[in-house]
Amino acid sequence: MVSPSGGGKSTMTKRLLEDFDNLKFSVSATTRPPRKGEIDGVHYQFISKDDFRNRVENNEFLEWEEFYNGTMYGTLRKSVENELEKGYFILLDIDILGALNVKKIFGDDVLAIFLAPPSIDILKERLEMRGTESEETLKTRIERAQKEMAYAGRFDNIVVNDDLQLAYNQLKKIVSTFINS
Ligand code: 5GP
Repeated sequence: MVSPSGGGKSTMTKRLLEDFDNLKFSVSATTRPPRKGEIDGVHYQFISKDDFRNRVENNEFLEWEEFYNGTMYGTLRKSVENELEKGYFILLDIDILGALNVKKIFGDDVLAIFLAPPSIDILKERLEMRGTESEETLKTRIERAQKEMAYAGRFDNIVVNDDLQLAYNQLKKIVSTFINS
């Protein structure tokens, strides 16, 4: 599942994991520092740039990307494979290009969902309210979101997060159909 940041992805991720026992969250690695409340190994594996680069060299990532002023994010091959072996479905909360790469690798075994904010203005409001971004990163994130919206059509499903409950119901139905098919 992807969404421009501030699109409501964390809330949706949390609820999906609560509702589907056979769904596991893939903990990505990142070089950015933890935000308040984020726990190492739960939300991300917070690692140094050197460590990240070593893991890239060792082919430990299914996909990885560098953005937001050099911050790196990557999906760890091992954590995905371990859960798949146990028979779980994996929920990836990654950026759009990363998701399209994963879709390219796994094809129909991947359900790619684009969670869209109702508008860029609303997205900006949400990010400002969240209060986790400096003026500069806020601007970068908005610009990135504008570009990202153009990719929505490449996803299997688009869910517009206008009303949280309605959007979640829609999302739950899509995921349930995929998991049970
Ligand atoms: P944040 O810093 O807000 O946690 O995440 C910023 C962006 O990085 C989000 O769009 C998030 O989905 C994406 N992201 C998180 N983990 C990964 C990953 O492993 N790979 C890729 N490509 N993007 C990721």
